[in-house]
Parts: sequence; C-alpha cells; structure tokens
Amino acid sequence: MEQILKNLEFIQNRIISACEKANRNPKEVQLLLATKTVPASRIQIAIEAGFSLIGENKVQELKEKYEDLKIFNHQTHFIGHLQTNKIKDVIRYADCIQSVDRLDLATKLNQRLQKENRVMDIFVQVNTSYEESKFGVLPENTIQFIKDIAQLENLKIKGLMTIGLLSTDPENSRKCFRLLKKIQSKIRELELLDRSVNELSMGMSGDLEVAIEEGATMIRVGTAVFGMRQYPDSYYWDEAQS
Ligand SMILES: *Cc1c(COP(=O)(O)O)cnc(C)c1O
Repeated sequence: MEQILKNLEFIQNRIISACEKANRNPKEVQLLLATKTVPASRIQIAIEAGFSLIGENKVQELKEKYEDLKIFNHQTHFIGHLQTNKIKDVIRYADCIQSVDRLDLATKLNQRLQKENRVMDIFVQVNTSYEESKFGVLPENTIQFIKDIAQLENLKIKGLMTIGLLSTDPENSRKCFRLLKKIQSKIRELELLDRSVNELSMGMSGDLEVAIEEGATMIRVGTAVFGMRQYPDSYYWDEAQS
C-alpha cells in the first residue's frame, strides 16, 4: 500500500518538474491512472488518496471492478480497443471513451446513446506512430474523421488521444506528441469544434515529461504507480487479443 502512495507522490513531482521546465501550470495536466490488471483493492488506495481518474483497457475488467469501486467517488475512462459488440457494456460502466477511432464504431455508439437518451464524452484516438500494432485514425485522415463524427449529436468530443512510439528513449515519442498537437491546431484553425475542446491525452510512465512539454492536458500512467504488469502492452493493443 505504501508503495502506491510513494509512487503517486513521485509522479506528481515528475509532473511538477516537467511543467516548470515547460513553463506550464501543473493544474493544466490531469493524471489518469491506467489500471489494467490492477485489482480494485489497490485502485481504491489511489482513489482514497485523491486520484480519482482511472482508465481501463478491457470491457471485462471494467465490468468486474465496477461493483467494487462504485462507492468511491471516481471517474473511469475507457482507453482500450473497443469492439462494437461491447458498446452496451462500455457506456454503462465508463464515463468517457478515449479510443474512438472508426466511423462504424462512432456511428453505433451514437445510435446506442441516442436510444438511451444520453450524451457521452469521447476522445478521438490517433495513430501518430504509424505502428501497425496500434489502433487509431491515421493522422492524415483525422480532420475528415472529426468532420464526420462532429455531426453525431450524442457524442461530445473532448479532444485527441495518442500512444507515443514504444521505445526505451522517450525522445522518440516527441514527434508523435507534436503531431497530435498539430492536428489539434488544425481543428481549431478550421473551427471544426467548439473552442473549449482542448484535451490532449498523451504520455505514459516512460514519456510523460516529453508529453507535457508538447502540450499534454492528460497523461495516462500505469506502471510507474502500480508496478510492472504480467503481460506486455501489446497484449492490450493487439486486435486478436481484445
Ligand atoms: C497501459 C496504458 C497506459 C499506461 O502505460 P504505462 O507505461 O504502464 O504507464 C497508457 N495508455 C494506454 C492506452 C495504455 O494501454
């Protein structure tokens, strides 16, 4: 238990240092805890310490932990690959979906929400690293994608999400994050969305400093808080395994 709290403090210090370096206010950067494989009892420790934004990758896990965590005041974002046949569950258990990356998914999601008379926050996931193993709209298709889904009235677009290039050198993520920021600027220039749409969800345990320097408003951190996971991340990002 103590370790989680120590890690959280360490992450906060990393955020503060990165913000100082980038001349930003740490309040502009939200910390989302990526809690895949982490049992509810450990997530609870973080929530009780005031870290109330979590992210899950698998619908099954989202569902399983929902009951245990619902008495604690928190928000859950879905950050994993979403199959259309899981839409019903996801909108029941999550507060926001950060991984909207296909028109058919967006359309079906919107239909379902319409049926339930609900509006849901979403992010558009962009594949800024062009790695085939990763999901996301290709950067060059993102503007058109936003134009298409901006029509869907039950989806409230909050911003963009990306996963940086997986490597041991965080500098390799920089061009991914810069590209995401550039797409955001383009969306603003074209006035495709409301001015208040400004979220950039990017940066993880290994590259959060670079992401903050490049304008992240939300970083998603797992390993650096909860320790190493049993499965490699490709297990969560690979279509065959979802
Ligand atoms: C696991 C995961 C993270 C967090 O990664 P860490 O390296 O453990 O900090 C962030 N974003 C997504 C989409 C993830 O699947």
